[in-house]
Amino acid sequence: MQPISFAERGWGWMLDNALLPVGDFVFGQRMISRLHWLQSAQWWDEARLKEERDRLLRSVLETAYRDVPFYRDLMNAARLTPADIRTPSDLSRLPVVTKDMLRPAYPRLVTRPTGQQTYEVHTSGSTGKNFAVLEDARTRGWYLSSFLLALQWAGWTIGEAQLQTGMTLQRNLIRVLKDRLMRCHYVSAFDLDDAHLDAALELLDHKNIQHLWGYSASLYYLALRASSKGWNRPMRSIVTWGDNLYPHYRRAIQNTFGSTVFDTYGIGEGLQVSAQCGHGGNYHVHTLDAIVEYLDDAGNPAPDDQPGNLILTRLHAGPMPLIRYRVGDVGIRGDQSPCPCGRGFERMQAISGRDTDVVVTPSGNRLIAEFFNGLIDDFLEIDSFQVIQERAESILIYIVPRPGYSPQTRRQLVETLQRNGAADLRIEIESVPRIPLTAGGKRRYVINRMGRPSAS
Ligand SMILES: [Zn+2]
Repeated sequence: MQPISFAERGWGWMLDNALLPVGDFVFGQRMISRLHWLQSAQWWDEARLKEERDRLLRSVLETAYRDVPFYRDLMNAARLTPADIRTPSDLSRLPVVTKDMLRPAYPRLVTRPTGQQTYEVHTSGSTGKNFAVLEDARTRGWYLSSFLLALQWAGWTIGEAQLQTGMTLQRNLIRVLKDRLMRCHYVSAFDLDDAHLDAALELLDHKNIQHLWGYSASLYYLALRASSKGWNRPMRSIVTWGDNLYPHYRRAIQNTFGSTVFDTYGIGEGLQVSAQCGHGGNYHVHTLDAIVEYLDDAGNPAPDDQPGNLILTRLHAGPMPLIRYRVGDVGIRGDQSPCPCGRGFERMQAISGRDTDVVVTPSGNRLIAEFFNGLIDDFLEIDSFQVIQERAESILIYIVPRPGYSPQTRRQLVETLQRNGAADLRIEIESVPRIPLTAGGKRRYVINRMGRPSAS
């Protein structure tokens, strides 16, 4: 591992103290000022953290009640006012909110003006069920600051170059400028054949990049390719997100890149929920970003050592508040004794909502969960989907249609998938009234019935 160069350190200082704060001011994100605040808040004692979290909770409830008819109606129906919800334990007096409740009310009854320009984000998350939320610059800066904090836990310092696997390669001018400033290099998570993986390894070498981040499955295949070529250069940080970080993914990535994998858990609805701190398998909930409840299927608190449905309350109202939102992931609360790292943020033992397989095309491209998620998310005529591979040359996609779905949607979907990495795959589409759940009650949206030839 090479030491941080003097130039890198200087550049990091410039970014952290001058360039990014100016960007915050211009774009209204407040990302860096919040990051600086979180950097000290993570060491606060429990009482102070709880006090601040409860203050944020009350503010979100007041805002939602005042500005958002959906939540005002829910509270009125439960005969509650914002003043009745003082701490997380009071939240159970409100009903759990599902995507199916929010969707018909969107946007009119579930959004609010923030004084900033808003934009729509499409996400299907771990459930493979399409969903639109509204976001603004402040919200983006708010959750990105927690993401930057998690990257710092993993060993990264602002100013150091990194390689990321990503979905949006067409980047607008502002993003290109930001990528340059942050020294961020992107490779597509849609092209994971050997030639593209080799190009990514060359980029790591050529630019002397020591930080590698991206979707778990994409880094897993990069690790397998690297080790098959005898390529090994230790990284200073490895950070994963998106699909499940299976134990064999973690092992392969750590063996090849000689560094602990730090997994993060965020949702496309505009919230970073938790991240690993490097002590055991421990995750810390971003206590000042989210209140996490773990409920069984009957809606009662799950035992601490048992998986529960994650119910999230975002501690930032933004244009579309999320209060007791059932995201569709499953997690285990686990032990809450103090973490050896010393941070006061609540702990989370595991997240296990994202069980997916990988589709392999005849030419050797690997289509990970985010490939399907990322592309199908933009088809709002599709309610939910499930991809099944039984033969090497084809896949079958089950689609639950929504109003507006037509043969043209089907054609466009096939074209989009083929253009972006599934060129040599025959794609059959079948409409179904619903997607069956697995025996464990989960929705698996990518299933490979050909075994997992490259899993080791
Ligand atoms: Zn910790």
